[in-house]
This record gives sequence, structure tokens and C-alpha cells, in this order.
Amino acid sequence: MATAQVSEILNRGGSFLITSTSPEDVFTPADLTDDQRLIGQTAEEFVQKEVLPNVPELEAHKEGLMAQMLKKAGEVGLLGGAIPEEYGGSGLDKISATVLAEKLAAYASFAVSHGGHAGIGTIPIVYFGTEAQKKKYLPKIASGELLSCYCLSEPQAGSDSLAARTRAVLSPDGKTWILNGQKMWITNGGFADVYVVFAKVDGEKFSCFIVERGTPGFSAGAEEKKMGIRGSSTTPIFFENSPVPKENLLHEIGRGHIVAFNTLNVGRFSLGAYCLGGAKEVLKASSKYSKERTAFGKSLKDFGLIKTKLGEMAIRIYAVESMIYRSAGMIDAAVSSPTPGANKTQQAMQVLEEYAIESSISKVMGSETVDYCVDEGVQIFGGYGFHEDYPVARAYRDSRVNRIFEGTNEINRMLIIQMLIKRSMAGILPLIPAAMKLGEEVLAGPSFEEAPTGAFAEEERSLAQAKKIFLLAAGTAMQKFREGLADQQEIVASLANIAMDVYAMESSLRRAQKALAKRGESASVMGDAARAFVYDAMDRIEKEARTALAASADGDTLVTQLAVLRRFAKHAPIDTIAIRRRVADAVLVQNRYPFEGR
Ligand SMILES: Cc1cc2nc3c(=O)[nH]c(=O)nc-3n(C[C@H](O)[C@H](O)[C@H](O)COP(=O)(O)OP(=O)(O)OC[C@H]3O[C@@H](n4cnc5c(N)ncnc54)[C@H](O)[C@@H]3O)c2cc1C
Repeated sequence: MATAQVSEILNRGGSFLITSTSPEDVFTPADLTDDQRLIGQTAEEFVQKEVLPNVPELEAHKEGLMAQMLKKAGEVGLLGGAIPEEYGGSGLDKISATVLAEKLAAYASFAVSHGGHAGIGTIPIVYFGTEAQKKKYLPKIASGELLSCYCLSEPQAGSDSLAARTRAVLSPDGKTWILNGQKMWITNGGFADVYVVFAKVDGEKFSCFIVERGTPGFSAGAEEKKMGIRGSSTTPIFFENSPVPKENLLHEIGRGHIVAFNTLNVGRFSLGAYCLGGAKEVLKASSKYSKERTAFGKSLKDFGLIKTKLGEMAIRIYAVESMIYRSAGMIDAAVSSPTPGANKTQQAMQVLEEYAIESSISKVMGSETVDYCVDEGVQIFGGYGFHEDYPVARAYRDSRVNRIFEGTNEINRMLIIQMLIKRSMAGILPLIPAAMKLGEEVLAGPSFEEAPTGAFAEEERSLAQAKKIFLLAAGTAMQKFREGLADQQEIVASLANIAMDVYAMESSLRRAQKALAKRGESASVMGDAARAFVYDAMDRIEKEARTALAASADGDTLVTQLAVLRRFAKHAPIDTIAIRRRVADAVLVQNRYPFEGR
């Protein structure tokens, strides 16, 4: 393939499945600039000083307190990251926005409220607003003078959001849209001033509107009684013949889905970062507790079964962090090399669309990692973990919703594969030629390609083989089911799991290689984390591929495919118990997540 073609594909979303990137091309937390670190520090200090002291009252839903917290965040510039400077925001690059989201996560209810306002409640106006709408709303949203929210879900339409029943009809004088219907589960619903609302024009054309609190017929219902994130506001919203000025239509009639899905795309990426920050907090609390608590005359931290938990938490956090910052780096690189003459905002939206697969991965892997960490955190705390006076109980409850909102993890898994197929069919991502090439390679029998060398030779080999396994399983499933593959959801989920693990393996490995090249021996524990992740991911990938293949082929074909799979999935054993102990020791020395980015 010509060099230009290779680099073109390298920069495409989803290309990690068929190309190989080099460590220098991967952004890692070690590459953060001082300014980016400072943004993280400001956010962290804000949460520590302003938010955490108020947690008991926030959890008890003290009237107006969360709104007050958000407004204070606005005063120190923490709300306008997504808003361009010309409209009063700080126009943060993606990497800075990622650091910011991560560092706000020490109190999940605040992080969710922040995301509802500064993320999904702001993005639609930034990317789809008219000049007048931007001028009217964005400066006040950036300062916190106006608080916002995003109203897509309805009682009967959550994942299937296009089945919304809320209607908008133009008034007889043509001056206002009359809205009728109900929204459900609206974050910040109880106190927001600006509501980004999706409704169907004439009951048919899915569209988007900006609705202000105080509009006649508008009301917010009672706060929902939630399992977690109790400090955040979640209410239904009602519209009863609510007149909305005609000019408050956002984007075009019948194009609301473009607004909705692109916004969620951005939201998903940030959600992964919030989850990453939350997972680090739990690891910190678990590490501290494991030192304080004794049993059988020993400190908990000295038990192998506690160490393995601390080590595994750190390894999974490391993998998620490596992926998220790598993706943020790719997004920023693409945004900073604009197509000549292109509108800046449009260009940014196109880039975010380009990396929609990586955004879904950020959401799914982030939410499942924080869920894993809170679960093990509770276990480390034992009975005290089950008590509300200890921090992990709340973290456990708070974490669960992340797998549900911003597109459930089931929906996001399906999206990952749907988007890959779509890009492949459109000729953007040459997955089919890659699968055909692999078929030829398999037929030709074992090759005598040069084996990888160096400190991570075995992991490098595993990574290359994992990509082949994806092509083998995906190619077989595509051949069998063709357009019907989407209906084979279990196979689709297995393929998505392989794709996510491949991205995590490569991101973890490249980051460790980059660190090793720069810092030598001092990065050895990071190398350990990458090795353990790659090793375990290979086992998971083999299992997922076996499941998918057995449902996509039979008879002799299946026997052959499984033999090929076994050959690809072979990897030399390593002592992951010793590795986890070393990683746990690093956690315990620092009493927190031990790698840079903490
Ligand atoms: C605390 C909280 C805050 C929220 N904040 C907001 C907000 O600010 N704005 C907003 O618009 N919404 C918000 N939501 C709503 C949230 O986005 C939805 O709950 C979510 O999209 C799922 O929709 P649902 O609850 O109707 O579940 P359903 O769509 O009914 O899903 C139920 C189950 O079925 C699965 N499922 C659904 N469809 C399929 C399918 N095709 N194939 C396989 N499985 C499927 C789902 O994955 C899930 O496991 C919030 C929700 C909560 C709980």
C-alpha cells in the first residue's frame, strides 16, 4: 500500500483493527502539557474545596445546592470547555476536556450534573445553533448564569429514542411551536434554565428545540428516587401546549437525530473520562483502607487476594486511561489539521463523528471498569464497604448508572460493529480486503514472517494475532449472516468485545513502550501492567471468537476455523500473579493509582 494511503487509513476511526501504530504516534498522559495539567489541578481543587464538604447536603437534595455548585464552577471557568472563546467559553482541546472531566469525578453526582450542563446540554447549541442562538445562550451557559440540560428520553422511548411521542406543531399565526408531551430522566431537570428538547414536528419529523424554563405549560416533575447519584437532579419534564418561539428550532426540521446522536457521541467520550476519574478515587480509598485494616494479625494489604484486587484495578484503569488519552490525542490532531476553508465548528463535529467508534469504546470500557473497581472496592472494605459511612458504598451505587445512560452498553456494543460495517461498506475502512488477505494467508499455511523482537516481543505478537482473530470472526459472521448480522446480537457483542480489547491492548502496549523508551527501568511496572492486560485480553478474545465462530459456521468449516483460531490465540504463559503483586505494591507505595495521569 502506498504511504499516503496507509497514513490516510491510520487516521481513520476504527483503523486500529487493521493497521499498526507506533509508540511515538500515541498520545499518553505523560505527554500532557503544563497547561493541561493545570486545568486538571483547578478542577480537582474545586471539587475538593467547594463540592466535597457539601456532599451530605447534596445527597439529601438540599434545595438549590447543586445549582449553586455549578454556578460556582462557572465562576472559575469550569463550565465553558466546549464553548468557543468568541462565545465566552474556553474552547478547550479534547485532551484538556478529558483531564477536566476526569478530575471532576471525585463526586459522581457533581460529575453527572456537570456533564448534563457543560456537555450534552451545551454541545447541541455549539454545533447546531444559529449565530443568534449561540450569542444569546452560550456566554450565559459558560458562566453558569444559565444552567442547561438535554431532553431526549421519554417514558416509552429510551434506547429507541426516535420513537419519541412529544409533538411540536406550528401555531396558526406561524410564530411559535406548540409542544406537547413528556420527557423522562432529565439530568438537571429540576433546576435548569435552558432545555434542549427533542420533539416530532407534526408527530413525524424528529426535531430539536431550545425551551426556556418559565415557558407556559412547561413543568418539571418531582425528583426521581434513584439508586445512586442522589445528589444530582433527575426529573421528568412536561409540556402542555407550551409555546416555543419559532426561532428556537435548533438545526433543521426532521434533522433532530443528527443533533441527538452527534451530541451523545461527544457525551459518551466524556463519560468514559468521568468513569476513569471515579475508578481512580475508589482505588485510592481501597489502598488506604487495606493498610489500615488488620485481620489474622496482618494488614489486609499483605494478603495475596487483596493484592490481586488492587493490582487488577490498577491494570484495568491503566488500559482505559491509555485508550481514552490516545483517542483524545487523535481527535486533537485531526482538529488541528483542518481542511482548508472548512468551517471550524463543522470540522470539529466531523472529527468527532470520525471517532464515534472510539467514543463508544470509551463509554463501555470506562463504565465497566469503574463498575469492576467499585465492586472490588466494597469487597476490600468488607462489611464496612456495605455501610453508608464509608466512601465505597456510595461509589458502588453511583457507578451503576454509567452502563445505562448515554446509550446503554448493549446499544453501544452494537453501534461499534454497525459503524465498523458501515465504514467498511463505504470504502472508508478496508476491512473486507484485510479479511480477504487474511483468508489467503490462512490457506497458504504457517508463514515464516520475521518474529517481533524486543522487550514486548510476545505482547507484540499477541496484538497482531488478536487483530487477525477479529477479522477471522467478523469475516465468518459477515459471510454467514450478511445484512442479517445486526439481528445476531450475541455475535455482534462478541465482535465488539474483541474490538474493544484489541484497542485496549494496543493502547496499553504502545504507552508502555513509549514510557520504556523514554524512562527505562523506572517504567517497568507500567510494562508489567501492559503485559498482564495483553495476556488476559488474549484469553478473553479467544473465548469470544470461539463463541462467535461456533454460531457462524459448522461442520468441517467450523473445525478448520477453530484450528486457525487456536493457532492465532497461542501465547506463552506469564506469571500474572507476580505481576499483579508488583502493580499492587506500586499502588500501595503511592497510595493511589501509580502511573502518571493520577
Ligand atoms: C440517572 C439517569 C439520568 C439520565 N439522564 C438523562 C438525560 O439527561 N437526558 C436524557 O435524554 N436521558 C437521560 N437518561 C435516560 C437514559 O438515557 C435511558 O435510561 C437509557 O437510554 C435507556 O433507556 P430506557 O431506560 O428506556 O431503557 P430501555 O431502552 O427500555 O432498555 C432496557 C434494556 O433493554 C436493552 N435494549 C433496549 N433496546 C435494545 C436493543 N435494540 N437490543 C438489545 N437490547 C436492547 C437495554 O440495553 C437495556 O438493558 C437518564 C437516565 C438515568 C437513569
